[in-house]
Amino acid sequence: MAVRDYNTLIRRIEAAASLPNAKVEQIGSFNSEGRRYPMYCVTIGEHSWSLKSVMIDAGIHGDEPAGVEAALSFVEQSAGNESLLTRCTFTVLPCNNPTGWELDTRENIRGIDLNREFNILRPAAEAKIIAQALTGKCFDLVFEMHEDVDSPGFYMYEIADDPAAYIGERIIEAAKAAGYPINLADCIEGAPAKGGLIRPAIVKFRKTRLPLAIHAWRTCGGHVITLEPPASRLSLAQRVDIQLMGLAIAIDSLSAAG
Ligand SMILES: [Zn+2]
Repeated sequence: MAVRDYNTLIRRIEAAASLPNAKVEQIGSFNSEGRRYPMYCVTIGEHSWSLKSVMIDAGIHGDEPAGVEAALSFVEQSAGNESLLTRCTFTVLPCNNPTGWELDTRENIRGIDLNREFNILRPAAEAKIIAQALTGKCFDLVFEMHEDVDSPGFYMYEIADDPAAYIGERIIEAAKAAGYPINLADCIEGAPAKGGLIRPAIVKFRKTRLPLAIHAWRTCGGHVITLEPPASRLSLAQRVDIQLMGLAIAIDSLSAAG
């Protein structure tokens, strides 16, 4: 049973085309239950080698709506921010699992976890569209907006080629200072964690059935951050707030790094 209507989201995404410095591109579409589902990429700013490039993606798990809301809010708030756009350009994939988003399910309507569909022989249509849209693209920062429905507090993943670029502690500190609960377990989702921060061991990454974060990192390296606000503990607005706060810190440190 659908709890959200993708058509309303389509209207909101397409409306971003009228924002200054924003372009909306349909990166592909697929059919499901007699309906056509277009997928989108929104870019803000003109790509240039002198600017840092940031990719933001959300909604690959359909039951994580705060990411979709945060990604679109970021587009709407940032497109007119000329000073930000003298430092960075943005590539935003706002809703990577349209049918799951409508049904409020982690998987798509066919029961596939799209975040395990990268670097496989026959990926689901959505993952194929995303991978094609990202082919040949490279980013200084990949920012993934997820949520965790079971976690008692906020946590995050961070991978960076250069440990000097690590900013996870700053993001966790900011969330704590804002009064949000942090997941302090020393093991989260099967991975060693410290103070709400998971830094996966790169050598242990599998080679196939990749999540988008690992796929993006394998393609080009750089700095990949995944935020996991606790969906059962905080309101949608609070989870969106964590995403946007974390993103602001990541962008700030990126442009400060020169
Ligand atoms: Zn997720």
